[in-house]
Amino acid sequence: MAKLTDLLTPGAPEQVDPLCRPMTPKMVREAPSRWITLGAHGRSHTPLTALPPRERCRELEGAREEIAALTGAGPPVGLAYPHGSSDAETRALAAAAGYRWAVTTRSARIDLRNYDPLALPRLDAGQRGVHGMLRGVHAAGY
Ligand SMILES: [Zn+2]
Repeated sequence: MAKLTDLLTPGAPEQVDPLCRPMTPKMVREAPSRWITLGAHGRSHTPLTALPPRERCRELEGAREEIAALTGAGPPVGLAYPHGSSDAETRALAAAAGYRWAVTTRSARIDLRNYDPLALPRLDAGQRGVHGMLRGVHAAGY
């Protein structure tokens, strides 16, 4: 299993679109700002619900530790579930690992009176660009 730092090395394969190449460790360290927060996405990108609980914990905790080591900052408190895969047990394990919020791949509007911070919906930026994102935001009812 590749470590996060192994995946963030310069020199991505030539066939990868330059705009889609992985960030370098330097870019990752410089990214956090008032508007950008780094979150975790697991260590191996395996859907967490496909793993036994012990492996899920290793994915959740290991991702936080590796990001903290890479950035020199504290461990991230946000998570995007790999493939959007989560269930009640995974959400509880994420909370126990130290995550305060997590996003699924479900596109929906958040009911501010009743929502689970460990099962937030999100819009997938994908290849949409700014106009596509704005259409997605509008389609989601914002
Ligand atoms: Zn992913």
